[in-house]
Amino acid sequence: MEKAKNNATLAYLLTLFIGYIFFLLRITVFRGSASGVHGVNFIPMSTIAEYLQLILHGNRIVGIYNIFGNILVFLPLGYVTALLFPKMRKSSRILLFVMAFSTTIEVSQFVFASGASDIDDVILNVLGGLIGYWSYGFIAKLFKPKKYAVYISISMIAVICLSFGAFAHHGRLLPAPGIRSAFAELRIDDTAWHLILVNKWNVIPVDYEVDLTELENGQSVDKRIYPALQEMLDSARAEGIYPVVVSGYRTAKEQHTLLDNKVSEYRSDGCSIEEAIRKAETWVAVPGTSEHQLGIAVDVNADGVHSTDDEVYRWLNHNSYKFGFILRYPPNKTKITGIINEPWHYRYVGVETASEMYNQGYCLEEHLSQLFFEANRKISVGW
Ligand SMILES: [Zn+2]
Repeated sequence: MEKAKNNATLAYLLTLFIGYIFFLLRITVFRGSASGVHGVNFIPMSTIAEYLQLILHGNRIVGIYNIFGNILVFLPLGYVTALLFPKMRKSSRILLFVMAFSTTIEVSQFVFASGASDIDDVILNVLGGLIGYWSYGFIAKLFKPKKYAVYISISMIAVICLSFGAFAHHGRLLPAPGIRSAFAELRIDDTAWHLILVNKWNVIPVDYEVDLTELENGQSVDKRIYPALQEMLDSARAEGIYPVVVSGYRTAKEQHTLLDNKVSEYRSDGCSIEEAIRKAETWVAVPGTSEHQLGIAVDVNADGVHSTDDEVYRWLNHNSYKFGFILRYPPNKTKITGIINEPWHYRYVGVETASEMYNQGYCLEEHLSQLFFEANRKISVGW
């Protein structure tokens, strides 16, 4: 009877333990949104110092979340390992075990490009494992052996829930559509006006203001991109290619009209209203999600006399980056951008960014995600 009870407790704890290992792998390696970044840090304490700086002077939540998160999430590992395997009840053994486990995760993160591999993570994880082990020792002394299993499993569940909560709170565990939440902070930076992300998942801030310059043909664009745009068009003409900006800045109302027209088009083709809207939205951005409302994107076609559209698209595709413009919706990135191939839609991001993106073959979402994860290794990638 006593034995059966012990076996049941053991089975229960083992199940919990396995579940916990899966949880650990889920939030570290198989997090669903690969950053595509192979970051590596071999210098001990450098990331920790960064986090501490961040706690003192910057984004406190991100700093705390990463330092304590890294400790907290490994706490149960030390705790339960000691509980389940009596032979492991030595600080040195727990230390080696957690170190090996954490290193494996960091290496996997590198292999799957799901985060930066950082020696500081291993340090924090080991600390967490040891604290877990020491807590086990403490609790084991407090309670009689037969009772403590209950307390232990309860506290373990609490710890897991807490760390899960910390993640969920930060939007890390939610399988976000695209990369939405990751950009929340990038968008606040108003110095990077040319990097603002607007897509299906990121709407234009309500207080966004545009200072326009009118082009000769009546279209207008943000005056900050005007010189670069003009230079690009002149350059093309000098090479015998004749592009025309057919659409620049649009108001929300104009965007609305465009969408309505597209929906009607599909309706008259016999689509149901839902189908018509769904199809129209792959062509025309919903108001608030169109870069045209920013004034820093243009649709460019050929003049129809000296050049064909294909010639213009080809020239732009290979030269626009020199003037700070990028092909915003490449055919091979439709899953990421949410927009079908638009060979005419060019977006200003500045020469430096455009060149980087051109060389790496990245779309804007990918570039920003790389930028974000590099600048904020603090967030998310740290684990
Ligand atoms: Zn466009």
